[in-house]
Amino acid sequence: MLRKEENIRYCEDLGIPFVDADYDTDRWFDITKGHENDEERGERCSMCFEMRFVKTAEYAFHNGFKVITSCLGISRWKDFKQVTAAGVKAASLFPEITYWDYNWRKDAGSQRMIEIAKEEEFYQQQYCGCVYSLRDMNQWRTSQGRDKVQLGKDYYKKEVEK
Ligand code: SF4
Repeated sequence: MLRKEENIRYCEDLGIPFVDADYDTDRWFDITKGHENDEERGERCSMCFEMRFVKTAEYAFHNGFKVITSCLGISRWKDFKQVTAAGVKAASLFPEITYWDYNWRKDAGSQRMIEIAKEEEFYQQQYCGCVYSLRDMNQWRTSQGRDKVQLGKDYYKKEVEK
Protein backbone atom coordinates (compact mmCIF):
# COMPACT_ATOMS: atom_id res chain seq x y z
CA MET A 1 0.00 0.00 0.00
CA LEU A 2 2.81 2.38 0.92
CA ARG A 3 4.57 1.74 -2.37
CA LYS A 4 1.37 2.29 -4.28
CA GLU A 5 0.89 5.62 -2.54
CA GLU A 6 4.44 6.57 -3.49
CA ASN A 7 3.74 5.54 -7.07
CA ILE A 8 0.58 7.66 -7.20
CA ARG A 9 2.44 10.66 -5.73
CA TYR A 10 5.23 10.38 -8.30
CA CYS A 11 2.79 9.98 -11.21
CA GLU A 12 0.92 13.08 -10.05
CA ASP A 13 4.21 15.03 -9.90
CA LEU A 14 5.05 13.97 -13.46
CA GLY A 15 1.53 14.43 -14.79
CA ILE A 16 1.24 10.77 -15.75
CA PRO A 17 -2.18 9.11 -15.33
CA PHE A 18 -2.08 6.33 -12.73
CA VAL A 19 -4.17 3.26 -13.51
CA ASP A 20 -4.99 1.21 -10.46
CA ALA A 21 -5.39 -2.42 -11.49
CA ASP A 22 -5.19 -3.52 -7.90
CA TYR A 23 -4.34 -7.13 -7.32
CA ASP A 24 -6.61 -9.77 -5.93
CA THR A 25 -5.04 -11.04 -2.71
CA ASP A 26 -7.27 -14.12 -2.39
CA ARG A 27 -6.46 -15.16 -5.94
CA TRP A 28 -2.74 -14.66 -5.29
CA PHE A 29 -2.89 -17.00 -2.28
CA ASP A 30 -4.86 -19.55 -4.35
CA ILE A 31 -2.37 -19.44 -7.22
CA THR A 32 0.69 -19.71 -5.02
CA LYS A 33 -0.68 -22.51 -2.82
CA GLY A 34 1.96 -25.22 -2.43
CA HIS A 35 4.74 -22.72 -3.22
CA GLU A 36 4.96 -21.11 0.20
CA ASN A 37 8.54 -22.26 0.62
CA ASP A 38 9.86 -21.54 -2.87
CA GLU A 39 12.94 -19.38 -2.89
CA GLU A 40 12.78 -15.89 -4.31
CA ARG A 41 13.17 -16.06 -8.12
CA GLY A 42 11.52 -19.49 -8.06
CA GLU A 43 8.20 -20.69 -9.44
CA ARG A 44 6.09 -18.69 -7.01
CA CYS A 45 7.63 -15.49 -8.33
CA SER A 46 6.88 -16.45 -11.95
CA MET A 47 3.24 -17.00 -10.97
CA CYS A 48 3.20 -13.70 -9.12
CA PHE A 49 4.62 -11.78 -12.10
CA GLU A 50 2.27 -13.49 -14.54
CA MET A 51 -0.80 -12.69 -12.47
CA ARG A 52 0.05 -9.01 -12.57
CA PHE A 53 1.14 -8.98 -16.22
CA VAL A 54 -2.06 -10.68 -17.36
CA LYS A 55 -4.01 -7.93 -15.63
CA THR A 56 -1.83 -5.33 -17.34
CA ALA A 57 -2.16 -6.96 -20.76
CA GLU A 58 -5.91 -7.26 -20.29
CA TYR A 59 -6.16 -3.57 -19.45
CA ALA A 60 -4.02 -2.69 -22.46
CA PHE A 61 -6.17 -4.82 -24.74
CA HIS A 62 -9.41 -3.19 -23.58
CA ASN A 63 -8.04 0.35 -23.62
CA GLY A 64 -6.29 0.64 -26.95
CA PHE A 65 -2.67 0.13 -25.86
CA LYS A 66 -0.41 -2.09 -27.95
CA VAL A 67 2.69 -2.35 -25.79
CA ILE A 68 3.19 -3.19 -22.14
CA THR A 69 6.38 -3.32 -20.10
CA SER A 70 7.68 -3.28 -16.56
CA CYS A 71 10.60 -1.76 -14.69
CA LEU A 72 10.55 -4.67 -12.23
CA GLY A 73 13.60 -6.27 -13.82
CA ILE A 74 15.77 -3.30 -12.89
CA SER A 75 16.09 -4.62 -9.36
CA ARG A 76 19.23 -6.61 -8.62
CA TRP A 77 17.02 -8.93 -6.58
CA LYS A 78 15.10 -9.91 -9.69
CA ASP A 79 15.94 -12.25 -12.54
CA PHE A 80 15.49 -10.07 -15.62
CA LYS A 81 14.89 -13.09 -17.87
CA GLN A 82 12.25 -14.44 -15.52
CA VAL A 83 10.41 -11.13 -15.44
CA THR A 84 10.59 -10.83 -19.23
CA ALA A 85 9.34 -14.39 -19.78
CA ALA A 86 6.32 -13.70 -17.58
CA GLY A 87 5.56 -10.47 -19.45
CA VAL A 88 5.88 -12.09 -22.88
CA LYS A 89 3.66 -14.98 -21.81
CA ALA A 90 0.95 -12.65 -20.49
CA ALA A 91 1.04 -10.44 -23.60
CA SER A 92 0.68 -13.50 -25.84
CA LEU A 93 -2.75 -14.16 -24.35
CA PHE A 94 -4.17 -11.03 -25.99
CA PRO A 95 -4.19 -10.23 -29.73
CA GLU A 96 -1.78 -7.50 -30.84
CA ILE A 97 -0.31 -6.89 -27.39
CA THR A 98 3.48 -6.89 -27.21
CA TYR A 99 5.68 -7.01 -24.14
CA TRP A 100 8.59 -4.56 -24.51
CA ASP A 101 11.58 -6.42 -23.06
CA TYR A 102 13.70 -3.33 -22.45
CA ASN A 103 16.46 -3.86 -19.92
CA TRP A 104 16.22 -0.84 -17.64
CA ARG A 105 19.57 -1.68 -16.05
CA LYS A 106 21.31 -0.54 -19.23
CA ASP A 107 22.85 2.93 -19.58
CA ALA A 108 23.31 3.30 -15.81
CA GLY A 109 19.58 2.75 -15.27
CA SER A 110 20.10 1.19 -11.84
CA GLN A 111 22.16 4.19 -10.73
CA ARG A 112 19.45 6.54 -11.98
CA MET A 113 16.84 4.54 -10.09
CA ILE A 114 18.70 5.11 -6.82
CA GLU A 115 19.18 8.81 -7.61
CA ILE A 116 15.46 9.27 -8.17
CA ALA A 117 14.60 7.24 -5.06
CA LYS A 118 16.82 9.58 -3.01
CA GLU A 119 15.55 12.74 -4.66
CA GLU A 120 11.96 11.69 -4.01
CA GLU A 121 12.71 10.13 -0.60
CA PHE A 122 10.77 7.04 -1.58
CA TYR A 123 9.82 4.33 0.85
CA GLN A 124 12.56 1.68 0.83
CA GLN A 125 10.91 -1.66 1.37
CA GLN A 126 13.33 -4.20 2.77
CA TYR A 127 11.67 -7.28 1.30
CA CYS A 128 10.01 -8.11 -2.00
CA GLY A 129 6.36 -7.80 -1.04
CA CYS A 130 4.58 -11.00 -0.05
CA VAL A 131 4.28 -12.54 3.40
CA TYR A 132 6.68 -15.31 2.42
CA SER A 133 9.38 -12.89 1.32
CA LEU A 134 8.96 -11.01 4.61
CA ARG A 135 9.24 -14.29 6.54
CA ASP A 136 12.38 -15.28 4.63
CA MET A 137 13.99 -11.87 5.01
CA ASN A 138 13.36 -11.92 8.74
CA GLN A 139 14.78 -15.43 9.04
CA TRP A 140 17.90 -14.31 7.19
CA ARG A 141 18.25 -11.17 9.28
CA THR A 142 17.87 -13.14 12.49
CA SER A 143 20.57 -15.56 11.31
CA GLN A 144 22.84 -12.55 10.80
CA GLY A 145 22.09 -11.15 14.24
CA ARG A 146 20.12 -8.26 12.76
CA ASP A 147 16.76 -6.83 13.79
CA LYS A 148 13.64 -7.91 11.94
CA VAL A 149 12.22 -5.66 9.21
CA GLN A 150 10.32 -2.73 10.62
CA LEU A 151 7.40 -2.16 8.29
CA GLY A 152 6.96 1.34 6.95
CA LYS A 153 10.07 2.73 8.64
CA ASP A 154 12.76 2.98 5.97
CA TYR A 155 12.90 5.79 3.44
CA TYR A 156 15.61 6.86 1.02
CA LYS A 157 17.20 10.13 2.05
CA LYS A 158 18.13 13.09 -0.12
CA GLU A 159 21.88 13.48 -0.60
CA VAL A 160 23.06 16.53 1.30
CA GLU A 161 25.38 18.69 -0.82
CA LYS A 162 28.70 19.44 0.88
S1 SF4 B 1 6.03 -10.79 -3.86
FE1 SF4 B 1 8.13 -11.11 -4.60
S2 SF4 B 1 8.92 -12.86 -3.45
FE2 SF4 B 1 6.69 -12.86 -3.28
S3 SF4 B 1 6.03 -14.20 -4.92
FE3 SF4 B 1 5.91 -12.11 -5.69
S4 SF4 B 1 7.88 -11.77 -6.73
FE4 SF4 B 1 8.12 -13.58 -5.43
